[in-house]
Amino acid sequence: NRFEEFKIGQELIDALESLRYFKPTAVQEEVLPLALAQKDVIVESQTGSGKTVSYGVPLCENVLWEENHPQALVLVPTRELALQVKEDITNIGRLKRIKATAVFGKSSFETQKSELKQKSHIVVGTPGRVLDHLQKGTFKVDKLRYLVIDEADEMLNMGFIDQMAAIIEFLPEERQTLLFSATMPAEVERLASFYMKADKVSVK
Ligand code: AMP
Repeated sequence: NRFEEFKIGQELIDALESLRYFKPTAVQEEVLPLALAQKDVIVESQTGSGKTVSYGVPLCENVLWEENHPQALVLVPTRELALQVKEDITNIGRLKRIKATAVFGKSSFETQKSELKQKSHIVVGTPGRVLDHLQKGTFKVDKLRYLVIDEADEMLNMGFIDQMAAIIEFLPEERQTLLFSATMPAEVERLASFYMKADKVSVK
């Protein structure tokens, strides 16, 4: 199996090839068709399974380069992961000139504010700082159409549930939501049933 079998543009195929991703992983094989069809998807998968590509590719495929406000938000539990995911998305979207920005705590709010003001298609961030930018009006989400919650179980373990709920209140209801979690405790299921479309698909 190859990436050509999915409904993705040649620029993404070429970018994946230059990253030396020639064959989709099992998670990518399952998630890509659903995510590319704009379905809400819940994915139970471990780090190392290739989950970042399984949401990075659909985001880069669907984001419109010419649109100026952020179109996708990826929530992650840690700053390290925020930086890693930003880098991965930048690499995947390089030939489409997709711009990703990372926002996280204990780092200059002002610098992030000016990055968010410039063309930023995809914002990757930790809940506290993302909420801060939303409340201060420095992160505009009126054009936001994609939400990814990565490591949802870790987000709950780290006590980010209230901040996540507050963030989601800011977002347009008309959007696609993808949720990734290594484990599926009842709290993650509850989060998913609350914030995702009723016809969401589960992938294990
Ligand atoms: P992740 O689960 O997203 O943290 O990815 C785990 C590792 O797998 C990362 O180092 C990726 O660069 C790598 N990876 C992701 N997709 C593929 C693929 N299709 N082929 C080879 N390596 C991949």
